Amino acid sequence: MLRKDRYKAFIEYFSTHQPDAKTELNYSTPYELLVAVILSAQCTDKRINQITPALFERFPDPYILAASTPEEVFTYIKSVSYPNNKANHLVGMAKVLTSQFNGEVPAAIEDLQKMPGVGRKTANVISSIVYEAPALAVDTHVFRVANRIGLVQNAKTPLAVEKQLVKFIPNKMIRHAHHWLILHGRYICVARRPKCEICPLTHFCQYYEYQQKGKMLTEPAYNVQKKEKIKVSNKAIKIGQALKKYAVKEEDRFLKK
Ligand code: SF4
Repeated sequence: MLRKDRYKAFIEYFSTHQPDAKTELNYSTPYELLVAVILSAQCTDKRINQITPALFERFPDPYILAASTPEEVFTYIKSVSYPNNKANHLVGMAKVLTSQFNGEVPAAIEDLQKMPGVGRKTANVISSIVYEAPALAVDTHVFRVANRIGLVQNAKTPLAVEKQLVKFIPNKMIRHAHHWLILHGRYICVARRPKCEICPLTHFCQYYEYQQKGKMLTEPAYNVQKKEKIKVSNKAIKIGQALKKYAVKEEDRFLKK
């Protein structure tokens, strides 16, 4: 099957059966959505929905959150993954949101990414849900399902997957495709044992096609750490260079004595 035909079948199926797919996070304002999405990294939406009512009641707007401390925020979010980092991110985000954007969640991906805890994935989620922009966030579910179905080829990073999906999916469908892929990955095309026996996409899924022929499809690993590792090593290089400069200076000083 050609890739363009897979896209056609994918769009046809979901726009017929799940035209209104949406996020499972509970929120009532863009600020609340931003908080919930930051919290949802490496955590389930169900867990986030359990803790956000109390959190939103205590911090109903970014100004109140900005005036708080990570220690206080921690007490509201301690049952989610990485609560220390996320508490820091939330207060930091609120400070930037109030000082640079008048408390209004910005629309531009670059502006969103200026806030602590907001990477490209979170920025894309906010931009597509709040501003209905044609942005497609690639999380582990989107990454896995897009690869399995065969919507992307040789896409080994979330960014590569995002670029290919955005290229082939019509603009007005992009923000829906994000939810289609996430929900399908969360409930049917699960990581360890995809439920192909109940999946309605078998007629155009590449993974299923391979399985039927007795072949295995090699699945790239979802790895968002790559970039961070490079960042760390660049930082290490900079520190190394600074130390080297310092050592050379000291050596000069010593020799001049
Ligand atoms: S057929 Fe199987 S591998 Fe393909 S999308 Fe469905 S559950 Fe996933």
